[in-house]
Amino acid sequence: MGRRRASAVSLRSLGEFGLLARLAAALPRRGRGLLVGIGDDAAALRLPAGRPLLATTDLLVEGEDFRWETADPAAIGWKALAVSVSDIAAMGGRPRYALVGLAVPAQTPVARLDALYRGLRRAAAAFRVLLVGGDLSATSGPLLLAVAVLGGGGRRLLTRAGARVGETVWVTGRLGGSAAALAALSRGYRAAREAGGTGRGRPVPPAVAGPLRRALARHFRPRPRVQPAAALTRRGLASAAIDVSDGLAADLAHLCEASGVGARVERAAVPVDAAAAALGSWLRSDPLSWALTGGEDFEILFTTSAPPATVRKALAGTGAGRVTAIGRILPRSAGLTLRHPDGAQTPLRGGFEHFRRARGFRLDRRRPVR
Ligand SMILES: [Mg+2]
Repeated sequence: MGRRRASAVSLRSLGEFGLLARLAAALPRRGRGLLVGIGDDAAALRLPAGRPLLATTDLLVEGEDFRWETADPAAIGWKALAVSVSDIAAMGGRPRYALVGLAVPAQTPVARLDALYRGLRRAAAAFRVLLVGGDLSATSGPLLLAVAVLGGGGRRLLTRAGARVGETVWVTGRLGGSAAALAALSRGYRAAREAGGTGRGRPVPPAVAGPLRRALARHFRPRPRVQPAAALTRRGLASAAIDVSDGLAADLAHLCEASGVGARVERAAVPVDAAAAALGSWLRSDPLSWALTGGEDFEILFTTSAPPATVRKALAGTGAGRVTAIGRILPRSAGLTLRHPDGAQTPLRGGFEHFRRARGFRLDRRRPVR
């Protein structure tokens, strides 16, 4: 029997096992290191000999981390996997397998779950991750999606804890694009379905349509920097790293805290996303603040004692985009500061933290905490 159209079925008629079969039907059954996949009591996996197993999980809660009113279910599926892939990347590892836990309200349209899984499958294919299992439950609360990703570490483990005084702080790519998209969404502007939105909302002026589309891609379809971080680890170049999920300021603070150091960031060096810069004047917001505290850029922030030419050569051809030296590691007593072009220094802070915001949505209405 073929797969029935989503509009023709309900969760009640499918039941748990029917839904599981439906969602698992399109998943690949074979892959590297996969001894036993979906369908048994547990998956059996083999990692390359001698490599550490990296494990991370991320939890997305409807109403808390995303809203169906602004995000396409496929975009939520993509992002649910991408955020954990980014955490594996930040350890210098390669993502391999994922497990998906899903709690579903009984009235959820089956088409929405199909789309959610379509996004998950696309991300899994893009990041070369195999979905090897999961669990499903009904809930009287909001939909809840928990994705765990397992990966193989490099010969050296890259952690947040290795930064040393005198080293340089670098970041891949450009920052602020995701936050710029979020700012537009929170003001009710329309994002097309192809861009991860719902196609509903206020029309967008033609002059900013292009930049908004690029910013939305950063927000809804992040591409974690797996290859660049792996290249740094392979060559032993990075002493510490973290992915930029809570915002440059907050994530650099996490890295400094773990390493027992301070840092100074040069304001003029911070690579602001070009789309964010274009949207800043439209939305009357400071793109630099998006870049510093917006978060969800999923770039890699790392420290190194290697000279710039060595870093650039190691990252050439890895898809790291532009890589930028943005500051220096200082003794812990120096704290975390931003140096302005006139030489003045101000404390660098802000970023995202659960439980600390008045209200907010991680995927679509996240606001910085100051
Ligand atoms: Mg992280």
